[in-house]
Amino acid sequence: MDQSDVSGDLANVLLTEEQIGAKLDEIAARIDADYAGKDLLLVGVLKGAVMVMADLARRLHHPVQMDWMAVSSYGSGTKSSGVVRILKDLDADLSGRNVVIVEDIIDSGLTLSWLVANLRSRGPASVEIAAMLRKPDAAKVDVDVRYVGFDIPNEFVVGYGLDYDEKYRNLPFVGTLAPHVYS
Ligand code: 5GP
Ligand code: MG
Ligand code: MG
Repeated sequence: MDQSDVSGDLANVLLTEEQIGAKLDEIAARIDADYAGKDLLLVGVLKGAVMVMADLARRLHHPVQMDWMAVSSYGSGTKSSGVVRILKDLDADLSGRNVVIVEDIIDSGLTLSWLVANLRSRGPASVEIAAMLRKPDAAKVDVDVRYVGFDIPNEFVVGYGLDYDEKYRNLPFVGTLAPHVYS
């Protein structure tokens, strides 16, 4: 998708495709080093983490496995409901596995703290988190995120997997929407 196709909907480009790629190079190198010689399962959280999972996994030299989970915490709007529901569970058995949860964004942190507790209860050897984006409110919850791409302002963003009403996920960059889109 080209920026010009939806340029009227966008207020601002926050992170370019190049910035995202460079950051993923760094995170992939860290994961390769941290898990050298160890088993590693990447758990992507659908649907938002599809882009970061695909781009991160392709940068790894480590022979990882990938699995997916779908949870819901946001509806079609922009506010967290605080309610987490499993829509699709993992196929993999986590007992004894090293897990890295791959997420698009941490806002309130409610989804992730719930998810970490849920996955820890399944007997894995370790659970860590890699998140492409993090907003300021994430500091209020006790979630330890080992790999963070970018700390961004407290604005609703779209692109690179992130949607507004299921749109804009395929933008290769991260941006904010113009006010007219919401109304
Ligand atoms: P949290 O539970 O940390 O508040 O956020 C959970 C989920 O809400 C994220 O994984 C993401 O799907 C969605 N979300 C949070 N902030 C944003 C945002 O700025 N833009 C979009 N498109 N989704 C967001
Ligand atoms: Mg997400
Ligand atoms: Mg969404």
